[in-house]
Amino acid sequence: MADLAQTFGSMVFGDEVMRRKLPKDIYRSLQRTIRERKHLDLDVANVVASAMRDWACENGATHFTHWFQPMTGTTAEKHESFIEPDGTGGVLAEFSGKELIRGEPDASSFPTGGIRATFEARGYTAWDPTSYAFLKGNVLCIPTAFCSYSGEALDKKTPLLRSMQAVAKQAVRVLTLLGDPNPPSVITSVGAEQEYFLIDASILDKRPDLLYCGRTLFGGRPPKGQELDDHYFGTIKPRVAAFMAELDEELWKLGILSKTRHNEVAPAQHELAPIYTTTNIAADQNQLTMEMMRVVAARHGLVCLLHEKPFAGVNGSGKHNNWSIGTSTGENLLEPGDTPSENARFLLFLAAVIQAVDDHQDLLRLSIATAGNDHRLGANEAPPAIVSVFLGDELTAILDSVKSGAAYNAPGKSQMTIGVDVLPHFPKDATDRNRTSPFAFTGNKFEFRMPGSSLSISGPNFILNTIIAESLCEFADRLERASDVKAEIGRIIRDTITAHERIIFNGNNYAEEWVREAQARRLLNLTSTVDALPLFETDANIALFEKHGVLSASEVRSRTELLLENYYKTLSIEALTLIEMTRRGVIPAAMAFTQRAVKLVRAKREVSETLSVKAELALAETLSDLLERAAAGVDALEAAVTAGNACAGAFECARHYREEVFCAMQTLRETVDRLEALVPKPYWPYPSYGEILYSVR
Ligand code: ADP
Ligand code: MG
Repeated sequence: MADLAQTFGSMVFGDEVMRRKLPKDIYRSLQRTIRERKHLDLDVANVVASAMRDWACENGATHFTHWFQPMTGTTAEKHESFIEPDGTGGVLAEFSGKELIRGEPDASSFPTGGIRATFEARGYTAWDPTSYAFLKGNVLCIPTAFCSYSGEALDKKTPLLRSMQAVAKQAVRVLTLLGDPNPPSVITSVGAEQEYFLIDASILDKRPDLLYCGRTLFGGRPPKGQELDDHYFGTIKPRVAAFMAELDEELWKLGILSKTRHNEVAPAQHELAPIYTTTNIAADQNQLTMEMMRVVAARHGLVCLLHEKPFAGVNGSGKHNNWSIGTSTGENLLEPGDTPSENARFLLFLAAVIQAVDDHQDLLRLSIATAGNDHRLGANEAPPAIVSVFLGDELTAILDSVKSGAAYNAPGKSQMTIGVDVLPHFPKDATDRNRTSPFAFTGNKFEFRMPGSSLSISGPNFILNTIIAESLCEFADRLERASDVKAEIGRIIRDTITAHERIIFNGNNYAEEWVREAQARRLLNLTSTVDALPLFETDANIALFEKHGVLSASEVRSRTELLLENYYKTLSIEALTLIEMTRRGVIPAAMAFTQRAVKLVRAKREVSETLSVKAELALAETLSDLLERAAAGVDALEAAVTAGNACAGAFECARHYREEVFCAMQTLRETVDRLEALVPKPYWPYPSYGEILYSVR
């Protein structure tokens, strides 16, 4: 345990190092900046920067970088060495407050969605002191936001930080109105469970689809998939265990509270869960976790696949986003309490979430919409594209009785009448589990299960924070106007439940009937990214983001465009890869094998006219038929891709790719999968699903 305590955070310029390295007044003023998000004086920044540099150099650093999260969804860094001529022919290690606070990467090639033309390409990075600087190898990484010169957000972090402020502001208003004249500040927290696949590194050279797209574009099912559920929570293979041990070690050094690890349902699939933390730190740390997974995998001769659906026919990977809201003094506002007033507060925050999810199904759905995730949602492994809330039977019964004013029968307790004054205590463990719900209440937090495994969690979380800020704002407005606040709390809860009952669903979300039932309830069912994304820029949504200072109209529009662009570009890469693999690998392999079958017919006939050639002829016929289809399928796919060049605008293009290119890929895949089932291994140039999924032994 002593070791663990020493290891944890050893690569982070965190609170303990700051306390040690910074003069007291500087430390205090930095703390104030972090807590209150106040501007930092350059004098203070200079002292912090030099302490940071000393610490980093003591730990072997030679460079620093502003580490940021452009709209590509990954992280970006541009290293600068500390080296500075000392004027006498030697060098010094320099790092100024100015360099700490602000950077100007020549970042003109990042996508901006039209916000910034390349001729005025200067974007700048600005230090986010709420997320600690850390060391990655010999580089000091400083978490930063990335903005255009005119202050528009060009990254994933900025709206997240703004949204945390927005929801905190409204929550504090509500807490004040609930009777706390001086409430502590409010923070949202997130724990992101991360699923991934591990395969042997040798596979990557042989599967261009995994290399370029992160997923297989064809492949027949192996005889054994996940039918027996024998991988889930199974014994971890020594090679994987060694990877996990090293990953944990690396994450702990970076101050990431990696907690749980286990095998997941599909063969070669695993999961890591950290202990939750403040949302923007959780977002930074999840990015780092994904990066470290890849890096550590490579050290073990493995490849970590973070794609949402690397293989058809077995489960894909998600990222469960556990979200809650609490005070800086450690109280969880989604925790049912022991006293009536705590419970009134709990129900009010719960109602705020329910209303937000119902009113903004579109935003939640589109916050996780990507080409990769389209393969998961609605399949029998992941939540459907329909957003609903799971509360569990007990909580639903309590809300029902609040709504009707009728008595609530707590199991094992005497009957009580519910007003907000008298709410029964319901222990956390009483909330049952439902693994099929996209948005499940799990005792003292909500688990948003729709995000895909490779997604940056900034997107879903800035949306969650904003929509909940909006419900809290509405509640605060009502409470401010009310003459009897206590009675108004009861009315708000009752009104909210009555108006938003339709969003609550405790049943099986994977069932066919739910789709029909949801339609009857008039819930949205946006089945693809192309259906979902354009709703980002409706007037109502733009007004919402502007009202809470999270995104401006032009930021919303540029993001919509970028996300649509990302969608069709992803599909384009996949289509081109599939064309290449089919033309240069699949078709030649099938031809060679057909030739062998045909040659055998001729050879047999030369020997004797009476030898049966039925099997060879039948095979040659099937192969020839499939070959013809494969050739036609590639041509059709290529034509669909080419036609995409004529589309005007991101939306048209995305729709074309969904309707034409995606379908042409599906059709071609079916043919290729049938060929794979017929063509023997020496001819087939690609490792099969079985070989890939069981490549780690
Ligand atoms: P389960 O595995 O049943 O979903 P866990 O209790 O293991 O539930 O939690 C899963 C994730 O939820 C973990 O990452 C955990 O840290 C996170 N979590 C727990 N409490 C909170 C909370 N109050 N806010 C945000 N995340 C939380
Ligand atoms: Mg979970």
